[in-house]
Amino acid sequence: MSDCLFCKIAAGAIPSNKVFEDETCLAFYDIDPQAPTHFLVIPKEHIGSVAEVTEDNAAVVAHIFTVIAQQCKKLGLQSYRVVSNIGEQAGQSVPHLHFHVLSGRDMTWPPG
Ligand code: 5GP
Ligand code: ZN
Repeated sequence: MSDCLFCKIAAGAIPSNKVFEDETCLAFYDIDPQAPTHFLVIPKEHIGSVAEVTEDNAAVVAHIFTVIAQQCKKLGLQSYRVVSNIGEQAGQSVPHLHFHVLSGRDMTWPPG
């Protein structure tokens, strides 16, 4: 989607501090970290949010979770939280599917 911030980051048109990249997804550090380690994992194809996940694109999401597991292992993270906000009320500010990976501090439950 031409007007989407994360599509531009995925395409390299806007720079990011990359954690990992392959043909399907990109992991990069959040510009406004909410924990000592905070990165985002996005599909390269435009999917608006978890609400747009279907049988046709679910393999991308499964792949993203394997990337999260591998990268967290590589970074030595033993405890972390994976979050995806869907819609404005839940705090989604960028309408391109992304999973936050947060680690390195105590976290509360339930989230605010
Ligand atoms: P959301 O609020 O949609 O759940 O998460 C969007 C995240 O994207 C926020 O944590 C925000 O800090 C991050 N973000 C917004 N713009 C940029 C950017 O240009 N670069 C990077 N690396 N992160 C961004
Ligand atoms: Zn997009």
